Amino acid sequence: MGAIILDGKALAKEIERELLERVEIIKQKSGGRAPILATILVGDDPASATYVRMKGNACARVGMESLKIILHQETTTRQLLEEIDKLNENPDVHGLLLQHPVPEQIDERAAFERIKLEKDVDGVTCLGFGRMAMGESAYGSATPAGIMKLLDHYRIPFKGKHAVVVGRSPILGKPLAMMLLNRHATVTVCHSRTQNLPDIVRQADIIAGAVGKPEFVKADWIKEGAVIIDAGYNPGPVGDVELSAAIHKCYAYTPVPGGVGPMTIATLIAQTVEAGEKALSIA
Ligand code: NAP
Repeated sequence: MGAIILDGKALAKEIERELLERVEIIKQKSGGRAPILATILVGDDPASATYVRMKGNACARVGMESLKIILHQETTTRQLLEEIDKLNENPDVHGLLLQHPVPEQIDERAAFERIKLEKDVDGVTCLGFGRMAMGESAYGSATPAGIMKLLDHYRIPFKGKHAVVVGRSPILGKPLAMMLLNRHATVTVCHSRTQNLPDIVRQADIIAGAVGKPEFVKADWIKEGAVIIDAGYNPGPVGDVELSAAIHKCYAYTPVPGGVGPMTIATLIAQTVEAGEKALSIA
């Protein structure tokens, strides 16, 4: 039997169909007003502009509105904080996303921290992360939360399994590790200073590549029957795992494209719809 394809594109479509109905209910209860996701893009990085556009398109598909704030490359931290404050205070905005990365003169942590918890639909604040890690109610970072949705949809078991996460970024590797831990996986987190990485990966029942380097995790590091989560998205497009050579021996894998990417966007939109429902006390 061939490996199971963890089809994020198909599941994202299913999620969007359900969201369309929930947005309709929100509109009925709020005099026709749809929830709004505000995205802030600082600078002119073409990849970031594409991501922001894709998020806006996804909002439109579920009947939601999006508000794009585009700030110039030289924006200061103070100017960015002022924009965030305005969106925090705007009652029509339910979700607020600051597109990462921001230009280097900006204190990205300070900017993330400024986002109100109830509008932090991408789980970037320390409080949001901390609550998620403690198993309390909070929106998880969209990419790892989307990965967990995908694994759940395909009934991938976690309990007692050894999950190895390669990468420890605040938006991906670290929250994914906490989410897997909360679901009773035994988690190892690897990073650029990890020694004997191939040997650690060889022990993984679930391996997550979140490195940002094309095909960095080699097929011959992957155990027979493992589940591969390839969160990487590099030009090509190719992921962070040497997927083509690993497919024949794994149990299941996320394709690139069509795996983690669509789930990230669907999760972000779903969390904004939830924020809209909470604002109306219907969630
Ligand atoms: P990031 O912030 O650059 O973090 C990369 C992580 O990889 C860091 O923790 C780094 O370790 C680790 N790393 C780098 N070189 C390594 C090495 N030689 N051995 C082991 N670990 C190493 O990247 P990110 O934002 O998490 O993104 C990771 C990947 O996911 C990228 O391909 C990105 O495009 C993709 N991504 C996709 C989506 C989506 O929606 N599909 C969303 C977000 C990200 P240190 O901490 O020690 O530096």
